[in-house]
Amino acid sequence: MNAHHGQLPAVRNVSLHVHQGEILALVGANGAGKTTLLRTLAGAHRASGGTVWWDGEDITGAPAHQRVSRGLALVPEGRRLFASMTVRENLLVARAAGRRGQWGLDTVLDAFPQLRPKLDARAGDLSGGQQQAVAIGRALMTNPRLLLLDEVSLGLSPLAVQGVYDALRGVMGQGTTLVLVEQDLQRVQSVASRIVCMLEGRVVTDAPADQLTRAQITAHYFGAQR
Ligand code: ATP
Repeated sequence: MNAHHGQLPAVRNVSLHVHQGEILALVGANGAGKTTLLRTLAGAHRASGGTVWWDGEDITGAPAHQRVSRGLALVPEGRRLFASMTVRENLLVARAAGRRGQWGLDTVLDAFPQLRPKLDARAGDLSGGQQQAVAIGRALMTNPRLLLLDEVSLGLSPLAVQGVYDALRGVMGQGTTLVLVEQDLQRVQSVASRIVCMLEGRVVTDAPADQLTRAQITAHYFGAQR
């Protein structure tokens, strides 16, 4: 698959097969194309070449909302909540777009109990960690089979990051497939089953997490700078 920003190629000939139930971590330096790849999978950015397959079906031209209804959800970089709406509204608004399934308001609040007392607060007034919980909860409300997470740790305190990953561990236990962009390599190695490293728009490593040492990942990660 290819994706451009104007004339600039951001994703170059990437061929990626995501297996059901795996936790795939996408790593790479700033500008490597990770966000563009996730957004192209989610239908938020148009592929300039190649095909996005979903369950054997070509969804390359399908708009984002159709992908959501088929079980593909994106937690975007920067969270992109409706800041002036309440937490409850942010969560419920997603429900209409998604599929029926185990995730609803109650189960999301069980996964993120810190949101329970905040249901009627404006999303924009929450802490970063709480906002990230809303962003993930909003995606879960659509009952995704594949959850795409773009830098969920960014700007959060270590404690908040731990909280987010503890909750995600519960989500993983439910069989949801995850593709996550994460800068923290230690975190990547502890959660991912597979690691894909991108460099200048291309996939340069694709291996089971337990077959890669930190030094190998770092070498690929910083390939452009060395
Ligand atoms: P980061 O960790 O900084 O988010 P990334 O690996 O997610 O990096 P992308 O954000 O996908 O990478 O960026 C890939 C390339 O596309 C970079 O060269 C970036 O400058 C460029 N790019 C990204 N978004 C845009 C945009 N909206 N307009 C123009 N160029 C863009």
